[in-house]
Amino acid sequence: MPDLPEVERFESSNGAQIFRLPMRVFPRYIAYAHLVVHDGRLTLVDVGSGLGESHADLLRGLEAVRTEYNLPATLEALDRIIITHGHIDHFGGLRYVREHAAQAGVAVHELARPVLIRHAERVLVTGKGMEDFLRRAGVPEDHRDRLLAMFMFGKRAFPPVRVDRTLRDGDLLDDTFRVIHVPGHAPGLVMLQIGDVLLTADHILPGTSVALAPESLMPYTGLSHYIESLEKAERVEGVRLALGGHEWPVRDYYAVARRTREAALEKIERVLDCCDQPRTIYEIARLIYDTLEGYIELLKLEQTGARIEYLNQRGLVIVDNLEALEQEHSPALRYRRV
Ligand SMILES: [Zn+2]
Ligand SMILES: [Zn+2]
Repeated sequence: MPDLPEVERFESSNGAQIFRLPMRVFPRYIAYAHLVVHDGRLTLVDVGSGLGESHADLLRGLEAVRTEYNLPATLEALDRIIITHGHIDHFGGLRYVREHAAQAGVAVHELARPVLIRHAERVLVTGKGMEDFLRRAGVPEDHRDRLLAMFMFGKRAFPPVRVDRTLRDGDLLDDTFRVIHVPGHAPGLVMLQIGDVLLTADHILPGTSVALAPESLMPYTGLSHYIESLEKAERVEGVRLALGGHEWPVRDYYAVARRTREAALEKIERVLDCCDQPRTIYEIARLIYDTLEGYIELLKLEQTGARIEYLNQRGLVIVDNLEALEQEHSPALRYRRV
């Protein structure tokens, strides 16, 4: 288990206090919730996974705000809960938090709402899509079943949670949060601007490029949305400090945003280079990544699939074995550069 970082406090140009609360959301993986105190209102942005230490860490973070900053930071006192996107490490703990935060209305982007109110449906539908994706990616059959089982295990269903308010791009929520919709990593992903502070969730992170999947698996994900959303992120004005859902606070937001977009385009270029002869997504992933094991392999296949999809949408790579597509229901597709 990694050590839990300290709670940190920041202030925005419009007088909000923002507390960064660390939580161990998965083994060896830390995420941050943010408690925002503005005009006497308490808002919690994201709630952790609800797994392992996550709840206890969240409560410990609130306690630190109470004792060190003398603020009434309890779940019971929350006025609002905002979920930045429908990934477990950000919303999995919502059921529990909601039980204690009786007065807090839950707000999410309209495209994240289905995950919260009916997680089981999302899991099953995506699972079926994943089976088809792995087949077309050319993953050998026995291996495919293993990956699929892993995918379904990693997506254990969460009980439905009520949503009180849906968000759209450009909304100003509670006179505090400017909503910036940035689909790509997830369909209903939002960044929240509070004065000169930007909560970037998983869209812009300083140390890693985020997980991406093809849009054929889930609408509003995929590289086209992701890159458009990175361009949009660079156009947000007046950001002095960016706080993501993971990693460390970012003081050079615009440089990090630009670097993230450039890295995304370079990775697409790398996949294009692998299409000098007809190859499946499975073969391309094996060329690019040295070791592919466990859940990482699934993630890398999804990323490679997302990049091939982007190139194929633009006619830069084409399906080489069209005759197989004509004859079989769901054959492995080979892509080649035009
Ligand atoms: Zn995420
Ligand atoms: Zn995350």
